[in-house]
Amino acid sequence: MPDIVLTTLNAKYIHAAFGLRYLLANLGTLRPRAALAEFDINQRPLDIVEALLARNPKIIGFGVYIWNVGPTTEVLAAIRRLRPEIKIILGGPEVSYETESQAIIALADHVITGEADLKFAEVCRGLLDAGQAGAGDGLFPRIIHAGVPDMNGIVLPYDLYNDDDIAHRIVYVEASRGCPFTCEFCLSSLDIPVRQIPLPALLEHLQVLLARGLKQFKFVDRTFNLNGNVSRTILEFFLERYQPGHFYHFEMVPDRLPEALREVILKFPPGSLQFEVGIQTFNEQVGSLISRRQNHEKMADNFRFLRGSTGVHLHADLIIGLPGETQAGFGAGFDRLVGLDPQEIQVGILKRLRGTPIVRHDTEWQMIYNPHPPYEILQNKLIDFSAMQRLRRFTRYWDMIGNSGNFVETRPLVWGAGSPFAGFLRLSDWLHARTGRTDSIALVRLMGLLFDFLKDELSLDPRLAAEALWRDYQRGGRHDKPSFLKDFLPADDPGGLRNGKSSLPKRQARHLATAPPAQTKSLPQNSADLDHSALADGKTCALMPQPDRVME
Ligand code: SF4
Repeated sequence: MPDIVLTTLNAKYIHAAFGLRYLLANLGTLRPRAALAEFDINQRPLDIVEALLARNPKIIGFGVYIWNVGPTTEVLAAIRRLRPEIKIILGGPEVSYETESQAIIALADHVITGEADLKFAEVCRGLLDAGQAGAGDGLFPRIIHAGVPDMNGIVLPYDLYNDDDIAHRIVYVEASRGCPFTCEFCLSSLDIPVRQIPLPALLEHLQVLLARGLKQFKFVDRTFNLNGNVSRTILEFFLERYQPGHFYHFEMVPDRLPEALREVILKFPPGSLQFEVGIQTFNEQVGSLISRRQNHEKMADNFRFLRGSTGVHLHADLIIGLPGETQAGFGAGFDRLVGLDPQEIQVGILKRLRGTPIVRHDTEWQMIYNPHPPYEILQNKLIDFSAMQRLRRFTRYWDMIGNSGNFVETRPLVWGAGSPFAGFLRLSDWLHARTGRTDSIALVRLMGLLFDFLKDELSLDPRLAAEALWRDYQRGGRHDKPSFLKDFLPADDPGGLRNGKSSLPKRQARHLATAPPAQTKSLPQNSADLDHSALADGKTCALMPQPDRVME
C-alpha cells in the first residue's frame, strides 16, 4: 500500500495528468512509497473516495483545477469525515491564488501554491518523518509557497506515461514554462520568468516516447515559438523521425514566425502539425486595456503563409466579453479572423481566473462574473446578460457547426457574401428558437436543421445546399444518405467523396479532407482526436491554465 497517493479528477479519461507525473517523478527516495490514482469528473465522488481510501494512504495530494474543484471538494469533504488522520495536500492553479476565500482550502491540511515539483516531496518527507517520530502538526504552514524551481534540478516525468497512456490518451510534453507576456485574463501572465527544460534531456525522453510508439505529442508550452532556436531544434527532431500518423500540437505566438522556422515547417507533411494561436481580440484599444499587444500585420502574413503554403492545422482563439469590446467589435474581429481562414476558430467566453489582474476592470467596465467555475462573465457595461447569453449560444453552435469539421463546405453558405458573424448569429438565433437547446443535437438532425435554414430562411437553391451537406457528410466516412436530402440529390450519386479508414471521424482529418490533394496525403491516424472542447479548459495562449499541469 502506498503512503502517498497523488490524485486528480481529469476533465476526461483521455487527458493523462501531466502535473501529477511531475510530482511523482520528483519524490526522490519516496517514489517507491507513492502511487498515482487518476479519475475523471464523470465519476461519482463517493466512488472516488472509496478507491482512494482502499489504498490506505497517509498522505493524499490533490491536483485542483477549474474543471474539478466542485467534485474534488465533495471528495475531500467525505475523506475528512471518514479518515481525518489522512494528511491532505492541495496544489494546482485553482488553489494557488485567493487562498483565504475558498471552501476547498478549509478542508485541506496544506496547500502548495505555484510549481510544486520539488516542494511536494519536501512536505511529504517532513510529514512522514514527523509521523514516525510521533511529532505533532505545525511543521509546515497551511499555505506553502513553492517558489520557482530550477529546471535543471527537476526529473522529467515521461517514463511515468505507461503503455496504456501512450496507446489511448493524450500525452503532454513541455519544452519551457512561463510566458513573458502580460495578458490580464491569463494565468500564464503571472508565470515569469520563462524557463527552458534542458533540451538534451528533453530530446532523449522524446526519443524514448517515439520508440515506445507514441504518435501524438501535445506541447503545453505557453509560447512554443518564443525561442526560435529551441523550437526549430524540436521541429527538426520530429521531422527527422516522422512516420505516417505522427501529429504534433504546439501553442504559438501568431506574430512570430521567422524565416528559419518557416523553412522547417514547410517540410512537414500536411496534417502532421497543429498550431494553436491566440488572437483573443483584434481591437487595439481592448488589447491595450488588457495589456496584450500583437502585430496584426505580421500575424496576417503568417496566417497567409501557413494556410497557403503548408498543411498546418490552424486553431485560432477569440474571446467574448473583454473590457471595452462591444458585440459589434467582437463581430468585426470574428469576420477578420474568418477571412484569414484558420480551420478552427475557438470562441471563448471571458473567464475570471483566480489571481489574474483582469479584476482591475471590474468597476469601470461593470464586469459581472459567474461565482461558480468556470467563472464566465455574465454581463459587462457593453454586453448585457441577454446579449451575452445570445453570444454564448453562438459559441456553442459555432463549435458544433463551424469547428467540428462536419460542415466544412456547408459552413460558408450560412453567410454567403455577407458578414460571417452576422450570418452565423442569425443561424444561431434560428437554431435556438427551433430547438431550445445547444447540446445533444445528433449530427443528422443538425444537418436537417441546417438544410431547412439554408433553403427556407436564406432561400438558397436546395440542390446546392443538399450537395454541400452530402459531401460534408461523406467526408466523415459516412454513406447512409439522409432521407431529407434524397429528393435533392442525383439518384445515381456515386458517393465519390467517401473516405477510407484513415480519414474517419477525426476533426482535423475532416478539415484536411477539404484541402487540395497535395495537402491531403497524410492524415492523423491515432484514435486520440485532439479535442479542443476539453482542451479549451486549459489554454496556454488563451483562456485558462493547462488542464493537466498540476500545482503550478
Ligand atoms: S494569453 Fe498567451 S501570450 Fe498572453 S500571457 Fe497568456 S500565454 Fe502569454
